[in-house]
Amino acid sequence: MAHIVTGKVYLVGAGPGDPDLLTVKAHRLVGQADVILHDDLVPAPILALAGKQAEIENVGKRCGAKGITQAEINARMIESARRGMRVVRLHGGDPAIFGRLAEEIDALEDAGVPLEIVPGVTAGTAAAAALGISLTDRRKTSRVIIVSGHRATKTAPHEATNWKEVAREDATLVIYMPGNNFVVLREELLGAGLRPETPAVIVSHAATSRQQRAWTTLGDIDKLPRMESPAVLLIGRSLDRARGVSLAFDEAELLLSSL
Ligand code: SAH
Repeated sequence: MAHIVTGKVYLVGAGPGDPDLLTVKAHRLVGQADVILHDDLVPAPILALAGKQAEIENVGKRCGAKGITQAEINARMIESARRGMRVVRLHGGDPAIFGRLAEEIDALEDAGVPLEIVPGVTAGTAAAAALGISLTDRRKTSRVIIVSGHRATKTAPHEATNWKEVAREDATLVIYMPGNNFVVLREELLGAGLRPETPAVIVSHAATSRQQRAWTTLGDIDKLPRMESPAVLLIGRSLDRARGVSLAFDEAELLLSSL
């Protein structure tokens, strides 16, 4: 039996955390939503923009609903839309970057649920803004490589990233979910020919009041202070300019220990 679906699902990017970095459209949709299913990374000030009618649920993998599967998230979106609700599936950053957006689109399309994608400011560009750099400074780099610190495939959820594959002098590497151990990354990138003096900066909680930045070089990257999650790691010549604006190593360590 074909369902006539009167509701709709909006797959919305909430940006890196600062409500000012929501798009006007995301802001409006959050205010109008009947159901909001959000990631862990979406902070309270953004959820506070929801209307009184909204049922709000954390479907994040970490704290909200431990063990919730992607299939369950999909089922919730579909069921609410079939009940005629306006559903906002609120992703941190941009839904198209490491956000399982494709799986959600597939599930909604298979169920005949109308959907719309609303992009958001992704962590990598928020970090670049925090550092005062251009990811594609044409004098130094001609490409951006967005990569995860680990690979997640169906068969191997934590397969190691092949760093050699992404080692390019002419690229800015933007590494999401970088973890805290950069020994292998350092060895592989140096082994693939990147110079030890290549700048590397980690930005934690980009575009929030808890933002932290630590600058180093690829050669010393294994000695970076441990930064709080969420953090992105950027590596490449385009980061040269960040030297002046970012926290020095010791300052970052000091700040971290005072948290
Ligand atoms: N869709 C999100 C990414 C989700 S994956 C986006 O477009 O930004 C989660 C990873 O994103 C985190 O592990 C971290 O690497 C990065 N991230 C998200 N928000 C961040 C923030 N405010 N500061 C730094 N990194 C962030």
